[in-house]
Amino acid sequence: MKNTLLSCRNITKSFGDDIAIQNLSLDLHHGEILSVLGPSGCGKTTLLRLIAGLETPDDGNLTLENRPIFDNNSNIPTHKRGMGMVFQEYALFPNLTVQQNILFGIRHLVKQEQRERLKNLLGLTRLDHLTSRFPHELSGGEQQRVALARTLAPTPSLLLMDEPFSNLDSSLRSSVRLEILDILRDTGTSTIFVTHDREEAFSISDKVAVIFNGRLHQIDTPDKIYFWPKTREVATIGGLCDFVQGTVRKGIVDTQVGNLPYRKTDELQDGTKVIVAIRPNDLQMSASPDGKHTVVRKEFRGDDTIFWVRSLNGEVVRCKHKIYTTLFEGIKVDLAAEEHVIFNIFEQ
Ligand code: ATP
Repeated sequence: MKNTLLSCRNITKSFGDDIAIQNLSLDLHHGEILSVLGPSGCGKTTLLRLIAGLETPDDGNLTLENRPIFDNNSNIPTHKRGMGMVFQEYALFPNLTVQQNILFGIRHLVKQEQRERLKNLLGLTRLDHLTSRFPHELSGGEQQRVALARTLAPTPSLLLMDEPFSNLDSSLRSSVRLEILDILRDTGTSTIFVTHDREEAFSISDKVAVIFNGRLHQIDTPDKIYFWPKTREVATIGGLCDFVQGTVRKGIVDTQVGNLPYRKTDELQDGTKVIVAIRPNDLQMSASPDGKHTVVRKEFRGDDTIFWVRSLNGEVVRCKHKIYTTLFEGIKVDLAAEEHVIFNIFEQ
């Protein structure tokens, strides 16, 4: 079993009457990259600030490497927690060069040690050729790498990153985040990373913690968050998802879009009413003059086309289709579950 680096137990934080974090518990293991994913205002930044010691919990406790950093008796200040932080605005010192920025946090070390760390970090972040530039002479991606190198220089036990890529344009964002991921993996840096972008969370994390209204809904590997969400909210944040009503009968769920196999967690009696989660790849669509469903919208999105399909009871599901050019709005279609898809159900 992996060793726990950080443990948050029953953390609660309110601002006035607003509860920002509610009774939240999670663990981070050594070397793990954890994303905190959730909509705007759900409490992501507050959680990071509580871990960093920039906010004080109302209740709960925090331990780092099995030592309390916050509980009833202790509240270790931020600068003694040994964590590194990278925020949206990289906060580089504008009057210092790349080299001086990186060395800033390790000035207390002997010169030889400083030189070694600098060389190592410049290599990792591919900044060797930019050491004497000032921040305003760098691209957004380069500035981000300097910010990371500066934060990693004192070898923090835990790196906290708050929406670190949101200032980069979308074409740069995916390449920069993979570069940063490689650096974190190479250095084995344990990281908690806040984002509201699921693609970002899925592509760079070992685990994703999904938060809504200050509550942790699920913490799991990205594929489990996508394929086996525990709540409807997690299903929705994990990707495009529609919900239809269904009734359990003889081991399947009877819905307007067909009889669907479902994931069995508890034994459900026949007649139990449920909600079924359907993703755009889950159903096969075929044109049919007698089809029970109607295409009501065709949404071209570049990489794919999504068809919005309405059933007789008014429920709409979104489907992707391979030979999309033959289908158009108004056409009648049949729907059937794709082979091997097992559907998630939720209580009504
Ligand atoms: P975003 O993605 O928009 O940055 P978030 O998920 O990081 O949002 P937080 O910044 O943690 O959300 O805020 C959670 C809630 O706590 C919000 O309702 C916010 O208004 C409130 N909040 C955060 N900090 C403070 C503060 N210092 N004083 C009062 N309320 C605050």
